[in-house]
Amino acid sequence: MKDHLQDKIFTIISEAADEQKQECYVIGGFVRDIFLKRVSKDIDVVVVGSGIELASRVAEKLGKKAKLTVFKNYGTAQVKLKELEVEFVGARKESYQRDSRNPIVEDGTLEDDQNRRDFTINALAICLNKERFGELVDPFGGMNDLHNFVIRTPQNPDITFSDDPLRMMRGIRFSAQLGFFLETNTFDAIVRNKERIEIISKERIADELNKIILSRKPSVGFILLEKTGLLDLIFPELLALKGVETKDGIGHKDNFYHTLAVLDSLSKHTDNLWLRWAALLHDIAKPTTKRFDNRAGWTFHNHNFVGEKMIPEIFKRMKLPTNEKMKFVQKMVTLHMRPIVLSEAEVTDSAVRRLLFEAGDDIDDLMKLCEADITSKNPDKVKRFRSNFQLVRQKLKEIEDKDRVRNFQPPISGEEIMKTFNLPASAIVGEIKMRIKDAILDGEIPNEYEAAKTFMFEIAKELNLGK
Ligand code: ATP
Repeated sequence: MKDHLQDKIFTIISEAADEQKQECYVIGGFVRDIFLKRVSKDIDVVVVGSGIELASRVAEKLGKKAKLTVFKNYGTAQVKLKELEVEFVGARKESYQRDSRNPIVEDGTLEDDQNRRDFTINALAICLNKERFGELVDPFGGMNDLHNFVIRTPQNPDITFSDDPLRMMRGIRFSAQLGFFLETNTFDAIVRNKERIEIISKERIADELNKIILSRKPSVGFILLEKTGLLDLIFPELLALKGVETKDGIGHKDNFYHTLAVLDSLSKHTDNLWLRWAALLHDIAKPTTKRFDNRAGWTFHNHNFVGEKMIPEIFKRMKLPTNEKMKFVQKMVTLHMRPIVLSEAEVTDSAVRRLLFEAGDDIDDLMKLCEADITSKNPDKVKRFRSNFQLVRQKLKEIEDKDRVRNFQPPISGEEIMKTFNLPASAIVGEIKMRIKDAILDGEIPNEYEAAKTFMFEIAKELNLGK
């Protein structure tokens, strides 16, 4: 164990604690991550005594290179040393009241402190005092659970989750992040206590949801959210995608599992949280737009546009940012079928130019999303799509090199049109501008000022505008 505490900071904490005759332990996520071989820069230290006193002594010993911050109200302190952040807190005992997730806190022993932890794998502690340096204290079989990939509460899970229902989200998040299983009693207790999630703030739920989305295989988290019943409470629109309706022997795909397959597949190619959100939301309007047509079978007309419009409501309710990040997600959802449609039909220059014009700098992200969206069970179909898609990518590159329409700005401004023909701001100015833009995107004229100007005069002539 000592091997894992090689960093000089542990020796300094150890010396400081011995000088103060305080018992102290490194605890929680840092210890768990040692055994999982995950790199962690956040170190939590529990002191059976005063965390602030120990932190102050440690900071003193480290001198100028360390920065000490004391949070008097919480009885905690932080020492920052380059990229390392060490939190010092006195061991505590917690008791909860039913209507709040803020516990009544008293000073306690190491055991009390371990009892208040959420999962056995998060309750591991390693002693730092010299005499017992490196000794692991594992009262709940956390090491065993680490070896068996199990998430389990140290106490009765009904009490653990009822006390602080955020732990239900954390348990599912750790399952997704670490690829662990929720132990049966722990899982069942989430099912029984799911309604308690209502006392948790939307921001904290969104934090956990984002961590699930950012995990290596996010579907693991969403399937657990669905199976425990939490999904219905926190994200009903996503649950509404689940299920298959059949009419006249014709079914459609289950859009919940399809969405998760797209998200997993996209996650292999990007860590961009908002692009992953776009995958999660790309078909969100399928339930509301679903129709059955005798000739066409199941249709979801305009589900991309309707989906785009649903997003602000969803983001607002979930307390996700309603800024340019959301706009990016909306844009991806609106455009998500364009490259696919393009790959099915003949790939014309004009269609590619229009796609580039609308997606702008987000074109690469859009292509990633679309490629992930190809999830058919028919391998021939997938193969055909993929090779057509290659063609679209190649065409995109050619056109981009040639015409530079990615961040296209019309070469002639509305102001110039008004000035040239002595026009007030009016619909006719808009029309001329649009026709110039269309001519460029359709490849009738090059994306250059002189060509656009000549074309402007041609339109003016047609419209009988005198100079
Ligand atoms: P991550 O850094 O990935 O969010 P973590 O477990 O390493 O996860 P924190 O969320 O900062 O980091 O939590 C640190 C430790 O505090 C946990 O390992 C756990 O022991 C304890 N803990 C955190 N939140 C709770 C909670 N809601 N209930 C009980 N214990 C908790």
